[in-house]
Amino acid sequence: MKCVAALFIDFDKTISKDHVYYSTGGSSDEKKITQKLAQEFMGGEQRIALLHKKFQSYTDRKIEMYIVSYGFIGIIKRVLKFTGLLSFFKNRIYGRDSSLLKRFGYDKGKFIQYFKTENNWKSYQVLFIDDDLRNTALINEKRTARVYTITSGKGLTKDSFDAVEQLLKYDSREGQE
Ligand SMILES: [Mg+2]
Repeated sequence: MKCVAALFIDFDKTISKDHVYYSTGGSSDEKKITQKLAQEFMGGEQRIALLHKKFQSYTDRKIEMYIVSYGFIGIIKRVLKFTGLLSFFKNRIYGRDSSLLKRFGYDKGKFIQYFKTENNWKSYQVLFIDDDLRNTALINEKRTARVYTITSGKGLTKDSFDAVEQLLKYDSREGQE
């Protein structure tokens, strides 16, 4: 039986290395994002290659990836497009201008719960990754999903991907509802 079915991933300082929303002054103007800037926000060529490799391996394992962020969708999409990562998420990108996230009062836990109900996923089949401990602690406490907190201060790194990989191997028989 397949264990993890979905990954819900924050964007700023999780997928991106820098805080794109703050770095762009909270702007929703996508034209501010150039290819060069997008690559910088993602931490450069090597890190982008690592993200590509890992996201490809999740996609190969039929794990659905969602972005749940407080940044603007258009900005996130443009950064991903310029760095060749957009196709992994398709339209599963939710930001501060997402009506669905707004509907849940920007509560990432309630947002994830909605998808769990829709897809009949158990808590152990969903992994949430964020650098904001307030989000991960609450979701962990409520057992909405399994969580991984980024503590590097520079987004997903090789070490955090290794830790995520261990969580993906988690035995569902030990899982909790
Ligand atoms: Mg973040």
